[in-house]
Amino acid sequence: MERADAAEDARLRSILDLLGDPRRARHALGEALSAHGIHADDPRLAATQQVFARYPDDAALDEATLFEAIRPNARLLERAFLGELVIPDFASFTTELRDIFDETRALEDGEVATYIPQLARVAPGHYGVSACTVDGQRFSAGDSDVDFTAQSCMKPLNYCFALEENGEDEVHRIIGREPSGRGFNELTLNKENRPHNPMINAGAIATCSLIRRGASVADRFDHVMEQWRRLTGGRKAGFSNAVYLSEKDKGDRNYALGYFMKEKRVFPEGTDLLQTLEFYFQCCSIETSCERMALVAATLANGGICPMTGERVLRFSTVRSCLSLMYSCGMYDFSGEFAFTIGLPAKSGVSGGLMVVVPNVLGFCTWSPRLDPLGNSVRGIAFCKELVGRFNFHNYDDLVGSLDAKRDPRRRMLLR
Ligand code: GLN
Repeated sequence: MERADAAEDARLRSILDLLGDPRRARHALGEALSAHGIHADDPRLAATQQVFARYPDDAALDEATLFEAIRPNARLLERAFLGELVIPDFASFTTELRDIFDETRALEDGEVATYIPQLARVAPGHYGVSACTVDGQRFSAGDSDVDFTAQSCMKPLNYCFALEENGEDEVHRIIGREPSGRGFNELTLNKENRPHNPMINAGAIATCSLIRRGASVADRFDHVMEQWRRLTGGRKAGFSNAVYLSEKDKGDRNYALGYFMKEKRVFPEGTDLLQTLEFYFQCCSIETSCERMALVAATLANGGICPMTGERVLRFSTVRSCLSLMYSCGMYDFSGEFAFTIGLPAKSGVSGGLMVVVPNVLGFCTWSPRLDPLGNSVRGIAFCKELVGRFNFHNYDDLVGSLDAKRDPRRRMLLR
């Protein structure tokens, strides 16, 4: 026991040594972590901050106090200092991200969605980007903390919640998993009279009928909000009542899709169609931001474990199914083209959000409301193209023998 304590002390002392002057250690700690993308509002740092909070900012802390502060995050600090985080040179990486952000900000093509006044009124110039790695290293630029409604970006998440609850067989007895090749809200089903996939409206409405179906509408919505909170490491999702009311008011196509599917007996026995549609409109109206959506994407990149809390929110198999369908169906009628050129699972929404996952590395979200004719954010697509142009993030960039000149920002476990 004593030897273990001595080893632990030696380990903490070597971290302290790296922080330099003990009188400045607490500040050096914050600076070092933030250079690696670990920021002060990271929930993992709370225990460390609680120790520091007991003393005035300029107090000289003794070794025992510094040990106490460092202990809860010793592993994280060691990994950061030893270059063991998934993107070891995070500062250089974020310089590139900022550069891509500035470059793509210049684009002013496209139109904001106008099918409801609440979206038509959003300032078209907004632009935000956030990224979060599987180690919780974060970057943000522009309007990354401004709320927008998730719209179709919620579809992959609802699909995950339905899978967790019902399993893959039951979900896919009701909903297909092929791209439709048709518009996202088209009045069409597949040959078996099932919605093509959960990423288009018909499939997303059917997915809603599979989430907590026995519970009250209020409890079903609470459940979804709670899952969003867990996916974002404890941050609360918002809700736009105005967008919800507008969606409901202008939702004729979605009502038509609902009745069409009811006629074809898509929904499980006992489904209340109108309640299901309202639940769908509510989920479209969940408010998020680039910062929070990047955390969701990072949880998916991390196989379902939230990098900020270490909590397993989704099963690995759920995430694998979700990423597969984001890859093949997530970008409306641009899905095949996106898979070809960008090679990453992604999901866009009419409000201009775009959530992208680089599996095992990071998740990111861009938000810019101007859309191209296919309904995807113009700047969002441009950001992805430039990112994948610089880094080997395309799913097939890294094949054995690849001579591609792209850079690899991630830590390599094995030398080839
Ligand atoms: N609320 C929109 C709809 O149901 C969501 C679709 C989208 O983002 N493409 O039509």
